[in-house]
Amino acid sequence: MIALTSVASERLAELTRLEGIYRNIPFEAIIKQDVLRMGLAFEDASLDGEFKAKDYFIFTFDHVPLADQKDTIRFKVPEEIRVRGGQFGLLPTIISVRINPGSPYVVRATETGPHLFLGSADLGSLDFPPIPSWYGRKTASGKLPGEVAPVIEWGYLIYITAFRNCQYFGKDEECAFCDINHNYRQQKHEGRPYTGVKSPEEIVEVLSWINETEAGDSARAYTITGGSVTSQLRGLSEVDFYLQYANAIESKFPKRWIGKIVTQAWEKSEIQKFKDAGIQIYHPNYEVWDAELFKKICPGKERYIGRDQWIRRILDSAEIMGPANVIPNFVGGVELSKPWGFKTIDEAVASTSEGLDFFMKHGIAPRFTTWCPEPFTTLTTMQEQESPPLEYFCKILTAWKETHERYSLPVPPGYGEPGPGKAVFSVSAFMDVIGYKGR
Ligand code: SF4
Repeated sequence: MIALTSVASERLAELTRLEGIYRNIPFEAIIKQDVLRMGLAFEDASLDGEFKAKDYFIFTFDHVPLADQKDTIRFKVPEEIRVRGGQFGLLPTIISVRINPGSPYVVRATETGPHLFLGSADLGSLDFPPIPSWYGRKTASGKLPGEVAPVIEWGYLIYITAFRNCQYFGKDEECAFCDINHNYRQQKHEGRPYTGVKSPEEIVEVLSWINETEAGDSARAYTITGGSVTSQLRGLSEVDFYLQYANAIESKFPKRWIGKIVTQAWEKSEIQKFKDAGIQIYHPNYEVWDAELFKKICPGKERYIGRDQWIRRILDSAEIMGPANVIPNFVGGVELSKPWGFKTIDEAVASTSEGLDFFMKHGIAPRFTTWCPEPFTTLTTMQEQESPPLEYFCKILTAWKETHERYSLPVPPGYGEPGPGKAVFSVSAFMDVIGYKGR
C-alpha cells in the first residue's frame, strides 16, 4: 500500500509536470495515455451494475494473463471507461480497459458510483459502456453477438475479427508485440466460446439486428480484421478470405456503415477488390517505422512482403482508396521496447515522426495504438518490458498533431467526432488532440 501510494504520488507529479510542458495537447489526452500505458486495477465493488463487459475483440490488451486474474475480475470488467470531472475537471474521456492489478490507477466504488483514483486523488466519476439492445440475442447457431461482432469505442465501431489467429506463428514470424495467437489460446483455456474462423453468414445475421435497432444505437462503422494468411485459409488467399466478409456485408447493407478493412499491404489490383466491394477505409498497418526495427519486430511481414514493398504499397493504395482513406497503424511506443528499441525517447520520437511526415506529406494520416506489453509475446518472453514513458506519448501526440496541421489534413474518417470530450477512439489519444487550440 505504501509502495502503491508512492507510485501514485509520482504519477501525479509527472502528470502535473507534463501538463505544464505539453500545452498544445489536452490534459485529457495526457491522462488517457497514462491510463493506457499503465492499465487499470478494479475493486470488486466497483463492478456492480449492468454494462458491456470487455469482449476481447482481437488481443488481450491486458498486463496479466487471464489465468492470473481474480474470478471477480476476469471477464467482468467494462470494455472501456469514460471518466469526467474530478480534481482536474476532465471532459468526458473514453479509455480502453487493460487489466493490471498493480496499476496505481484504481477504479473504486463510491457513494455516487465508480470513480477513478490515483492514490487518494479522485480523477473523476466513471461511466461504463451501455449494453447494446441486440446483445441479448443469440445467432441461429447459438452464439452471442459479443463473440461474433462486438462493439467497441462506446458502441461506434463493430469489430469483426474474422480470423482469430495469425499464420505468422512463433517468434521467428509473429510480430514481437502481438498476442493474437496467445489470446486465442487463453480464451479457449478459460472455456470461453471463441470462434477461430467466423462465417460470413453469422456476421450478417448479427449485423441485421444492428441494422434494425433504433437511432439510439450508435454503431457507425465496422472493421473486418484478423491475422495474416500466408498461404491459404479455407482455400482462399488473404485478400479473397477477407473480401468474402466485405462482399457479404455490403451486398446486404450497402454503405449502411463505414466499412474498414485491415490486411497486409497488397498491390493495387487487390485493393481495388476491396474498394469495389464497398470498403471505404484501408488499414495496411506498418507497426513501426524504423527499417531495422521493422525487420526485428515484424519478422514475418519482413520475410513475406518486406518493409520497402510494404511502404510502397501503402502509397500505391492511396491511388485506389484516396489518401485520406488509407490509415495505416503503428504501435506507439514499441520502438522503445527491449532489446532492439531506441534507448531514448527523443530518438524514438525522431524516428516515428519521420514516418509521420513521410506519410502525411502524401495525404495519408497514420493512427496509432498504445503498445501494451502483454504476457506471452515475443518481446515479453525475451525480457521484462516496461511500458514506454508517458513523455514519449506527449511528444508523439504533439508531433502527430503538428504534422497533421502542417499538411492541413482532414479529420480521419471512420473515427467519429474528434477533440477532447468527444473522441471515442479508445486505445490512443490521437483523436482527442485534433482541433485542440492549446492552453
Ligand atoms: S501480422 Fe503481426 S500484428 Fe498482425 S496478427 Fe499477425 S502477428 Fe499480429
